[in-house]
Amino acid sequence: MTVSNRNALVLFSGGQDSTACLAWALTNFAHVETVGFDYGQRHAAELAARKTILGRIAAGFPEWHGKTGPDHVLGLGVLAEIGGTALTGDISIGRRADGLPNTFVPGRNLLFLAAAAALASRRGIHDLVGGMCETDYSGYPDCRAETIEAMQRTLNLGMAEEFRIHTPLMRLDKAATWRLAEELGAERLVTLTIEETVTCYEGASMRHAWGRGCGSCPACGLRAAGYARYIEEKTSRIR
Ligand code: ZN
Repeated sequence: MTVSNRNALVLFSGGQDSTACLAWALTNFAHVETVGFDYGQRHAAELAARKTILGRIAAGFPEWHGKTGPDHVLGLGVLAEIGGTALTGDISIGRRADGLPNTFVPGRNLLFLAAAAALASRRGIHDLVGGMCETDYSGYPDCRAETIEAMQRTLNLGMAEEFRIHTPLMRLDKAATWRLAEELGAERLVTLTIEETVTCYEGASMRHAWGRGCGSCPACGLRAAGYARYIEEKTSRIR
């Protein structure tokens, strides 16, 4: 893909996946705006990390200089009002009766995409970028390619616009997401991802080789395993 003359809006949470998406958008689009959602998540660590990451990207990546901004934060407190999930209430992380992790927030990605599209419409942007991924993940139904395709069609019908939802991580496993960060932003972006992005469900900030987190929740488990595989593959590439 060559650099498009279009602008993009990235759903940017401050996590590893959306940081990789931000780098992907900066590589492929002329200008990139970001949007984050305050939905009453249990911890504010991700939202705080967003600003730091955006600042470091603006200052430390000359190839993307002047391409970011503005950053938007929208409140979606309705998700916490509904509650009943481990991410929006004081419930310990586990599985629901139907087997889905109780970190799944019903409707969350659908609301995010609808709100992002409404904002994009107002900003004259038609390319949305999100970190949804159906590989190596927890089986969230709103991360499936089929859901995203249907949502794109719904948004276009419902707003009479031509949005495209880009999901560069859809077919990547967690090791490949680390590799993508390295390809797009070199070692600097891998370091920034380790130091600043927050993926942990508990929002814990203990340092590990793969970054910050509690080290024991499912999100930390996936991240740690992906990083170990990435380093293993990288070492065998160099040999
Ligand atoms: Zn964790």
